[in-house]
Amino acid sequence: MATSPILIIGGGIGGLTLALELAKRNIACQVFEQAAEFSEVGAGLQLSPNAVRRLETLGLGTALSIAACTPPKIMIGDAVSKQHLNEIHLGVNAQERYKAPYMVIARRDLQSILLEALKAYECVELICNKKFITYSQNAHQITAEMTDGSHYQGRFLVGADGVWSRVRHMFAPDQKPRQTGFMAWRAMVNASDAPSLFTSPDVNAWLGPNSHLVHYRVCAGEKINLVAVTKGKALEKTWSDDTPKESLFEEIRPFNSALRQAVMEVPEWTAWPLMILKPFKNWSKGRAVLLGDAAHAIVPFLAQGAAMAIEDASCLGSLIAEMKDGQKDNHLTLFENYKNKRFRRCQRVLSKSIYQAQFYHAAGRLVKIRNGGLKMLPSSLLLRQYDWLYKA
Ligand SMILES: Cc1cc2nc3c(=O)[nH]c(=O)nc-3n(C[C@H](O)[C@H](O)[C@H](O)COP(=O)(O)OP(=O)(O)OC[C@H]3O[C@@H](n4cnc5c(N)ncnc54)[C@H](O)[C@@H]3O)c2cc1C
Repeated sequence: MATSPILIIGGGIGGLTLALELAKRNIACQVFEQAAEFSEVGAGLQLSPNAVRRLETLGLGTALSIAACTPPKIMIGDAVSKQHLNEIHLGVNAQERYKAPYMVIARRDLQSILLEALKAYECVELICNKKFITYSQNAHQITAEMTDGSHYQGRFLVGADGVWSRVRHMFAPDQKPRQTGFMAWRAMVNASDAPSLFTSPDVNAWLGPNSHLVHYRVCAGEKINLVAVTKGKALEKTWSDDTPKESLFEEIRPFNSALRQAVMEVPEWTAWPLMILKPFKNWSKGRAVLLGDAAHAIVPFLAQGAAMAIEDASCLGSLIAEMKDGQKDNHLTLFENYKNKRFRRCQRVLSKSIYQAQFYHAAGRLVKIRNGGLKMLPSSLLLRQYDWLYKA
């Protein structure tokens, strides 16, 4: 590579989006992924218009429209009574209001779309089986060291290595993810085999006491993605967890019997302890900087974690590209600008997500208040409350 590349640690949604942002501007980068191949686990993602708009700007609109689904609405129901409470109209509504659709997609499909787009650029190198362990830096460059003893030198190093970020640990070891007390349960089934309760084309959110269930179609409608969030704690420092699915069935005991039965018919559930990492002030040190969950892991009640990683990538990519030739080493200002542009928004998304958790998981007397409020609100208002999020 002619110029010193940007080293990106982590080939998740955030790392790959940043690679494409840089590639489009002919900025050399190397992406290092610890896994043997770039493979997202089989779960789905809601991609709200703020994320889709940025992916469309990267030229991914057509590929997204083939692989993703565009749900007509979000149906909100009470998981105990199975009563319909309200709905948020998406489809054309969202497209017109936010100039981008609201989509749902399998993570694997989004990752494939990003990888396919990256193939067109010689300035990007994708390297699997490389686990980052440490870095050293001087006034001119940063060197990443991998667990296999190999070294790579670059202009900057971006830690897009998720909530357990090793890069963050290097310069902010006190910033550790915290248990939220929530467990996410994920499953993916063929639409043709799924219980009929789960086959609607909408995003369906069933709100129960201390737990909720969301399901929607992905893979051009051929599969159904299910996510249930209940109380629960991580057994160890990992994403997927061996907690048996019977714990899920126990946690959703108050659910309507038809809904619970349908959940029990789904053969495989994987438990994911939900962690949180509050945005903190030092996202960078010298030539190392953080992006996505490594900087701010958000509980998924607003479905915004990947969206924030995509927004981070878009912001950081354009700031790097805007650096004038004479400013090539003015990275301290660059990273400060990046953090200033992103910090408050990520913080707001995090606090709204926590509020949404309390709203979704209301129990006892609060259920009546929540359901009454939801039923009263015009559905157009339900969508408009997200203008601050989806228009940006
Ligand atoms: C149940 C659940 C549902 C969710 N639903 C949504 C949703 O609907 N919409 C949404 O926007 N967000 C959602 N999220 C959040 C979203 O999944 C994350 O915010 C997003 O994946 C973060 O992307 P990232 O690239 O920052 O990190 P990650 O996706 O975690 O990627 C990090 C990558 O870095 C690699 N890596 C880690 N350490 C190293 C190392 N030392 N060396 C090399 N590589 C390394 C990992 O293998 C991984 O590939 C959900 C999260 C959960 C748990």
